[in-house]
Amino acid sequence: MSSQISDVSTKTEIISQECELSGYRRYAETHNVINQPLPLENYNAYSSDPILGHWFRTFSQSLAKANHAFDSNEKKCWEYGKCVGHELQSAGFLANKYIPEFLSHDRYGHRIDQVNYHPAYHQLMATAIKHGHHCLPWQSNYANAHLIRAAIAYLHTQADPGSGCPLTMTFAAVPTLKKQPNIAAEWLPKVYAQHYDPDNKPFFMKKGVTIGMAMTEKQGGSDVRANTTTAKPLSKRGPGEPYDIVGHKWFCSAPMSDAFLVLAQSKGGLSCFLMPRWCPEGEKNQFFIQRLKNKMGNLSNASSEVEFRGALAWMIGEEGRGVNTIIDMVSLTRFDCIMGSSALMRQGVAQAIHYARQRKAFGKLLVEQPLMSNVLADLVVESEASLALGMRLAFALDQPEDTEQQMFIRLVTALGKYWVCKRAVQHTYEAMECVGGMGVVEETVMPRLYREAPVNAIWEGSGNIQCLDILRAMNKQPEVLDVFMQTLSQAKGSDLRFDKLLTKLKTQFKDVQHAEFSARRIVEQMAILLQASLLLQYGNSDVADAFFNSRLTEASHQYGTLPYGVNAKGIIDSAVSL
Ligand SMILES: Cc1cc2nc3c(=O)[nH]c(=O)nc-3n(C[C@H](O)[C@H](O)[C@H](O)COP(=O)(O)OP(=O)(O)OC[C@H]3O[C@@H](n4cnc5c(N)ncnc54)[C@H](O)[C@@H]3O)c2cc1C
Repeated sequence: MSSQISDVSTKTEIISQECELSGYRRYAETHNVINQPLPLENYNAYSSDPILGHWFRTFSQSLAKANHAFDSNEKKCWEYGKCVGHELQSAGFLANKYIPEFLSHDRYGHRIDQVNYHPAYHQLMATAIKHGHHCLPWQSNYANAHLIRAAIAYLHTQADPGSGCPLTMTFAAVPTLKKQPNIAAEWLPKVYAQHYDPDNKPFFMKKGVTIGMAMTEKQGGSDVRANTTTAKPLSKRGPGEPYDIVGHKWFCSAPMSDAFLVLAQSKGGLSCFLMPRWCPEGEKNQFFIQRLKNKMGNLSNASSEVEFRGALAWMIGEEGRGVNTIIDMVSLTRFDCIMGSSALMRQGVAQAIHYARQRKAFGKLLVEQPLMSNVLADLVVESEASLALGMRLAFALDQPEDTEQQMFIRLVTALGKYWVCKRAVQHTYEAMECVGGMGVVEETVMPRLYREAPVNAIWEGSGNIQCLDILRAMNKQPEVLDVFMQTLSQAKGSDLRFDKLLTKLKTQFKDVQHAEFSARRIVEQMAILLQASLLLQYGNSDVADAFFNSRLTEASHQYGTLPYGVNAKGIIDSAVSL
C-alpha cells in the first residue's frame, strides 16, 4: 500500500514539474453537468396553469349567464401571469434575501419610524397595485371582478407571498371603511388610484395609499375583547369623530402603510378606528414602531410591534361595535389566506413537476417512475381541490346581492381558511421532497413556500378559531348550514361514497354537547365534501376520481397514497403546460 502511495505522489510531482516547466498550471476536468433540470423561469404563470384557467373560466361563464354583455377579462390574468413568471419571480427572490430594516431615528437623532425595503419589494407592490390586486372589485364594473382579482392574487403569491400581506389588507379594508362615509370619501379615491407611493410622507400628499390592520395585543390575539388600548374622544363622541389612542399592538404588519384599522376600548366598548401614520396637519402621528419581528417566513413583509402614545384616529362605525365593523375586513383577509395557501401549493406542484419531467433516476425520468407519479398526481389533486374551493368563494363574492351566496361565504370562508391553510403545510414539504436535495436550498423557491405555509394557517385567526367560528355561525344563523347542505346536495346521486359521507355528516351535527371538542373533525368532513362536490360537478374527471378514491375513504392520508387505477399520468399532464 505504502509503495503505491509513493508511486502516485512521484507521478504527481513529475506532472506538476512538467506543467511548471512548460509555463502553465493544468487543472483537472472533474465532470460535465448533466441530468440537472433547467430552472422554471421566463414563463407565463397563468397560461402554463390550465387548472387556474379552467376554474376561472368555469365560474366566470356561470356569471355570464346572468349578464349577456360579458367579457371574462381573461387577458388580465394572462398579463399578470407573464409578469409573475418573469420580472416578479426574480423580484421575489431579492425581496426575501434583502429583508426590511427598521430605522427608529435619522442620523441626527430625529425619530423617523421608517422601514426600508429592497427596491424589489417596491417593484412587487407597484406592479400589483397597477394591476388592481388591492382594489379591482371595488373600482371596476366587471361582473367577475372578484374572480379576476383572486386569480391575480393567486399568481402574485407565487412570486412573493410577503408583499401579498399589505395588498390584501388594503383590498380587505374597503368594505369596513365604507361604513364611515366621511372618512371613506377622503381615503377610498386614493386606494382606487392604482398608484403606489412608498414615501414616508403624509397621506394627503399622496395619490395612492395602502391600509394596514392592528388588532392583536400582547395579552390576546384570538380574543380581541381582551384589548387594553384605550380611545378617548378629542371633542364629540361617536362615528367619524377624532379620538386619542393610547396603547400597543403586538403584531402590526406592513407598518409603512398610510393608515391602520385599529381596535381600541372606548367608553362604549371595543370600537374600530382609522389611524393615519401622519396627521392631517402634516406632523408624524404618535405611532411608534418598537421593533420588527424576526419571523421564520413571510420575510419580505415587515411585521412590527407598535405603541400609540396619544395617536390620532377616527372612529369607524358604531361605538362598541368594533368587531362587527372590522369583521368584513377580517373575512376578506381570510379569503386571501385560502387563495394564498392554494398558490403556495400551486407553485410547489409546478416546480416539482417541472423538475421531475427533466430529472432521471434509475434509468427513467422521475415523472415516469410509478411511485413518483403517485406523489405528483396526489399533490395536483390537493392543489386543484384547494383552488376550486377558493374560486367558488370568489364566485360568491361576485354576487353581493344574492343572500344565499352571502350565507355560503359566511360559512365557507372559515371552512376554507381552516382546511386549505392546514393542507398547504404538508403539501409544500412534499413538493420540496420531490425536488430532492435542491428542495432545501434557498436558490430554489421551495424553502420559501414551506416557511410561508404555517404563517397563513396561524394569522387571521388560527385553526381552532376558524372551527369555533363555524359552530358560532351555525348556532346564530342556522340558515347558513341549510345553504351549505343544499350546495352539497347538488352533487348527490352521482357517487355512493359521497352520498354516504353526506348522510354521515348530517348525523354529526346532532351531537351539540360535544360539538366544540369535535369541531375539527366535523369541519374536515365538511371541507372534503365541499371540495368533492365541486370536483364532481365542474372538475376534471380524473382528478375527481382520484379525490374520491383517496379523500372520501377512512384511510389515513400521506401524499402519494392514491390507490392503483387512478390516471396519475393524465392528472400530472393536466396540471402544467409548458
Ligand atoms: C407574521 C404575522 C403577522 C401578523 N400581522 C398582524 C397584523 O398585521 N395585525 C394584527 O392585528 N395581527 C397580526 N398578527 C397576529 C395574528 O393574527 C395572531 O397571532 C393570531 O390571531 C393568534 O393570536 P395569538 O398570537 O394571540 O394567539 P392566541 O390567541 O394565544 O392563540 C394560541 C392558540 O390557541 C388557540 N385558541 C385560542 N382560543 C381558543 C379556544 N377558545 N379554543 C381552542 N383553541 C383556542 C388558537 O387557535 C391558537 O392556535 C400577525 C401574526 C403573524 C404570525
